[in-house]
Amino acid sequence: MDRPSSTPPSLHMAMAAFFGASLMALSAFYIHKRSVDQVLRRLIEIRRAQSRSSRPQREQEELYGGDDDDEYDGDGLREFGSDGGGTAVALRDYPRSSSTSMDGNGHRSYGISSSLPNVAVTTEWFEEDDKFEQSVGYEAQARASSLDNLNFVASGLPSLRKDQRDRENAQLSCSYKRIASLGRIMTPRSPSRNTFESAEDSDEEGPGLENDDCIPFYPGNTESSDNYGVNTNICSLSAVPIRGDDAKCANSETLREAKTGADIQHDGKTGSTSVNLVGNGLTFSNTVLPPRIAGQEFANTEEEEVCKMLCECLNLRKKYVYREEVPPWKAKPLAKNSDPYHFDPVEPSSHDFRMEDGVVHVYASKNDSEELFPVANSTEFFTDMHYILKVMSNGNVRSACYHRLRFLEEKFRLHLLLNADREFLAQKSAPHRDFYNIRKVDTHIHHSACMNQKHLLRFIKSKLKKEPDEVVIFRDGKYMTLKEVFESLDLTGYDLNVDLLDVHADKSTFHRFDKFNLKYNPCGQSRLREIFLKQDNLIQGRFLAEVTKEVLSDLEASKYQMAEYRISVYGRKQSEWDQLASWFVNNSLYSENAIWLIQLPRLYNVYKNMGTATSFQNILDNVFIPLFEATVNPNSHPQLHLFLMQVVGFDLVDDESKPERRPTKHMPTPAEWTNEFNPAYSYYLYYCYANLYTLNKLRESKGMTTIKLRPHCGEAGDVDHLAAALLLCHNISHGIILRKTPVLQYLYYLAQIGLLMSPLSNNSLFLDYHRNPMPMFFQRGLNVSLSTDDPLQIHLTKEPLLEEYSVAAKVWKFSACDLCEIARNSVYQSGFSHEAKAHWLGDKYYLRGSKGNDIHKTNVPNLRISFRHETWKEEMQYIYAGEAIFPEDVDP
Ligand SMILES: [Zn+2]
Repeated sequence: MDRPSSTPPSLHMAMAAFFGASLMALSAFYIHKRSVDQVLRRLIEIRRAQSRSSRPQREQEELYGGDDDDEYDGDGLREFGSDGGGTAVALRDYPRSSSTSMDGNGHRSYGISSSLPNVAVTTEWFEEDDKFEQSVGYEAQARASSLDNLNFVASGLPSLRKDQRDRENAQLSCSYKRIASLGRIMTPRSPSRNTFESAEDSDEEGPGLENDDCIPFYPGNTESSDNYGVNTNICSLSAVPIRGDDAKCANSETLREAKTGADIQHDGKTGSTSVNLVGNGLTFSNTVLPPRIAGQEFANTEEEEVCKMLCECLNLRKKYVYREEVPPWKAKPLAKNSDPYHFDPVEPSSHDFRMEDGVVHVYASKNDSEELFPVANSTEFFTDMHYILKVMSNGNVRSACYHRLRFLEEKFRLHLLLNADREFLAQKSAPHRDFYNIRKVDTHIHHSACMNQKHLLRFIKSKLKKEPDEVVIFRDGKYMTLKEVFESLDLTGYDLNVDLLDVHADKSTFHRFDKFNLKYNPCGQSRLREIFLKQDNLIQGRFLAEVTKEVLSDLEASKYQMAEYRISVYGRKQSEWDQLASWFVNNSLYSENAIWLIQLPRLYNVYKNMGTATSFQNILDNVFIPLFEATVNPNSHPQLHLFLMQVVGFDLVDDESKPERRPTKHMPTPAEWTNEFNPAYSYYLYYCYANLYTLNKLRESKGMTTIKLRPHCGEAGDVDHLAAALLLCHNISHGIILRKTPVLQYLYYLAQIGLLMSPLSNNSLFLDYHRNPMPMFFQRGLNVSLSTDDPLQIHLTKEPLLEEYSVAAKVWKFSACDLCEIARNSVYQSGFSHEAKAHWLGDKYYLRGSKGNDIHKTNVPNLRISFRHETWKEEMQYIYAGEAIFPEDVDP
């Protein structure tokens, strides 16, 4: 059938509507145009005069504006196309009006004025097309001309600006506010920058700037050169509400606006800060707020009180936390054992030790009564902990800390705006290093979940095929072979798949720590867990050792990834240590890429109910007595002595969300703790701390390695846990509850306590990924690293640590520099030896600030490190009223 040759009536209708709409839009435009005709004429005059005098400025604008406007156009069409705006000219006006409504402040005035001339005369202003190379040389001139532009702003559209500003505002506070609000808007999405909008999902209450998020952002430019770093950043930052086509002139307008917003005083002159800012981005941090000078007075007594209380908290931490007297870089190197499984008999020392009130006391000899390494007693600790809790609940301290944290956050955003390009460039110019070949330590991974599900499945299948007749378990009164076990479960090797294995965390585990723990049972069978994932079973943990060796060899093959495996000691009997040590030595599980932590599950109530423990003291005896024995006389536990050389930390694990009673200042001693209830977290923590403290003092005095307290803390439950850990712990795993307490968060920042975070694990258990505070903590400068926690339950790929980094990088838009900084943190937080750290981070890694950073090893630009360091120093000076003392070296 032929098509009708005449056009259908519907098309006529459409054409009519189209022309009608175009006509409307055009007339609307001309009315609009005439209404601002005067302003326009004035603008053109000035711009022409300027274009003759300041060519470089224009080139700069052209380079950093005018491209990539497709996205914005699309938005405009979708939003406004239905109004009948058939022509491009009509469409152009809409975003302008939308921009005016979006930002009630400075953007309103400039959103209109700056884009208007573009409609008519864009090409007149930008017909020349000079090369970028030339323009680089004009940087100084460009700067000067951008300063000239300030006059133009003042004379062109003075009234609007003046209305919105308090002339009496101090220049600095005004600049900070302004920059903050700009920074709150999304930062440009380029590979070298990042956005942290999700950080705003924190549980903290506070002034909501979230609405800023709806402002469409003009995509930034990535190719800006170092010379232009500062200016272009401001340019792309401020080109918020202006359409792409208008950006050529708009950028210059908004560049000026950012400058005015940031720096100018209201007579149109730039303050000295601005000059510093533009001319010397490296030291900008000092120019944002003046550093507190030594002995400087506080603004008021309230502020002084707050700072005093915070100082007191920090000093308390100093009093408790164990640090080596001689840091490892100053000590003479420990005799390196070439064979980690070879035991040389060691002469026992004459030390004597006694357990008194739950804490081991060490004496020089049997007859001595003077305690060698006294440690604060429990009453003192609980009193101090209550002081921290009191400070935490003080309203003034809370608001002060909240504001300091917000300030830190905004300061980091500002740093990125100014320096992201420089950082990216520095990384590019560091030869050889990139994210893949810098050292990363998985600082928090449970050994019994260290393989992924596919790996475990493959291993089980291969064992079932190769060793079906191995007697593996004693169950229901008889010994069973592996084959019989699977027959009893009605399973064959062929049936097995990852779904049947069912070890992965899913929806059912959220807020269900108990269900999460059940996922350790392959196919839901505790007997399979005992056979494959325990080291104290009938086959003496041979299967677990074999799969561990496979994991270790994968780790070694990756070369740049390290792990700190956490393995359990339950405290049910004293022989557990020797059993674990012999498993380690007999199966040759030493690796250059791995070290070990011991985790103690907080299960007193379970053992009490089972009858394996009569008092809490039993657990302490079982856990700590063997350690002191092996330290005083290594010959008594030769394998344990060897194993302890690989043990760097002590961990407390279990469900923190279980309800518990807050300890009082006077608690029963562990021997008196015979009731059926589990002691509170801080009670466990104190007794582990006190015994480890004494043990470490003893081990250090004998030239042995030490064991740091690095518990799980702040994953769920009360903030008490975090208060106790602030006083006692080297670093902590998780710490996501810090988002609920600004005071502790700020104190953790000041003390730079390591947070070994596992957002994917939190996502399965306690906190959705998009609400995780990790990116916010990172911005604020807390000492964070990424770790996997439980690859068996959580991760899908062969390299779980990279998976963790990968998801974080994508979801939170971490730049390469951010990732490298996090990886660097992980090495510092880890317990690897001084020699290893020097090899991985650089010979001077123990120095604070950029002096300790070697970009050729870490791929982190000095600029980033010195920003973090200077910022931290300023905060410390603020708290200590200018009298903070900074040691040269990092804390050991
Ligand atoms: Zn964990």
